[in-house]
Amino acid sequence: MLDTEMLIGAKFVAGTEAPEAVINPKTEETIVTLPDASATQVDAAVNAAANAFQTWSRTTPVERSALLLKLADAIDGEAEAFATLEALNCGKPRIRVLQDEMPAVSDCFRFFAGAVRNMHGPVAGEYMAGHTSMIRRDPIGVVGSIAPWNYPLMMAAWKLAPALAGGNTIVIKPSEQTPLTTLKLAKIIAGIFPEGVVNVVTGRGSTTGHALISHPKVAMVSLTGSIDTGRKVLQAASATVKRTHLELGGKAPVIVFDDADLGSVVAGIKAFGYYNAGQDCTAACRVYAGKKIYDNLIADLSSAAKELKFNLPNDDENEIGPLISKAQKGRVQSFVERAGAQKHMSITAGGKSPGGKGFFFEPTVVAGARQDDEIVRKEVFGPVVSVTRFDDVDQAVAFANDSDYGLASSVWTSDIGKGMATAARLHYGCTWVNTHFMLVNEMPHGGLKASGYGKDLSMYALEDYTVARHIMVKL
Ligand code: NAD
Repeated sequence: MLDTEMLIGAKFVAGTEAPEAVINPKTEETIVTLPDASATQVDAAVNAAANAFQTWSRTTPVERSALLLKLADAIDGEAEAFATLEALNCGKPRIRVLQDEMPAVSDCFRFFAGAVRNMHGPVAGEYMAGHTSMIRRDPIGVVGSIAPWNYPLMMAAWKLAPALAGGNTIVIKPSEQTPLTTLKLAKIIAGIFPEGVVNVVTGRGSTTGHALISHPKVAMVSLTGSIDTGRKVLQAASATVKRTHLELGGKAPVIVFDDADLGSVVAGIKAFGYYNAGQDCTAACRVYAGKKIYDNLIADLSSAAKELKFNLPNDDENEIGPLISKAQKGRVQSFVERAGAQKHMSITAGGKSPGGKGFFFEPTVVAGARQDDEIVRKEVFGPVVSVTRFDDVDQAVAFANDSDYGLASSVWTSDIGKGMATAARLHYGCTWVNTHFMLVNEMPHGGLKASGYGKDLSMYALEDYTVARHIMVKL
């Protein structure tokens, strides 16, 4: 049985606006049709959150921690069902959701359950004679959270866990394309958390989303989405001067020096360039290769990309799934066609949709890309990796940093000193050396430049979802 109703306060209700089809990207069939929340329903959800904030914000860390741990246990108990549902809605191989995403989701709630009991800060003392100063970290208020479609449940966890641990209340809107696991999560949450602490509304960005980010009682907006939507959040936030937390995509450079271990590089890009069909803001998609390793890298990566398994009848054998929608498939296709039409670039693997049902696209390698090519500069958000040759370390660093984005990057070399020195010069929220893509709940994830600001995961997220306050007492 699908959970299709939104959670507003203590009630499960259907939206009252235009219906939106939720599609299975593997079969192109409609799973369910869900009506959008109206502005009135968004208002009711925000008011429920604002009421709940009065008491939730004054609970102790240990009380909030206990409920977060309960939620983590409940998610683990339903991991199989969540994986089935996420696979249905996103087309991902179910085994990948179960093994990769589900443990990270429940661990996110467990991490923040522990983190909130371990916050540290400056020392209280007399910084002015006769006055004692101390710092508090307090919740911000109602957080309006907007999530994308690439990892729906995991993004919900990243938004809910630090906000709840910090004592905030929330109205979350999943992507209209992938609401199903968040609606299932709402059922579990309603049995654990007090009324109004978490509210879930569904609907399109331009209507339901806009009503949420513009609501005067929303104190902070947290978005994971595109740069365009990030700009809209900033505009809406300016009216009532809301705090904002923006995770807005990426175009991760992958610097491969001549002395890198070719086998590890190819295995790494095969895994981390195409994972989730490349619909990942950290995807290893913009490769820069040294002159000596370039030809072998193109040859071996192209063979490896062709070996990636997808659209097999036994889903457990699939390594990647389809793209999320017909529109996304068309977008990826047009990027690849425009690249292929230029003489200096060649498509050495993939390059097209395999045809038939589902929004599949072949894992693709674009060789010979130049720094100014669209395929190097724009986020494709599909299974497409470009490879560009570089002359020396300075050029590699300059190419890597010459991007609107600043989320993730990696450096591959057998000289760890060179790896560390290069990592230090990159303007990215994260740089991996001899790997890519690895995230842990203890370490921050977030960008620079147009990739946005604010950190998900780690103690830094708890700081973002709380505010430092100074209390001074005259003695
Ligand atoms: P999107 O911006 O179109 O949608 C994201 C969410 O924003 C959806 O829930 C959507 O309904 C909502 N939205 C859209 N317009 C809105 C508006 N005017 N007001 C309020 N809400 C609105 O992005 P997407 O296509 O769902 O996701 C893909 C994008 O997200 C990519 O650019 C990707 O790189 C980025 N992303 C970033 C990270 C990160 O951590 N930095 C992680 C995952 C995805």
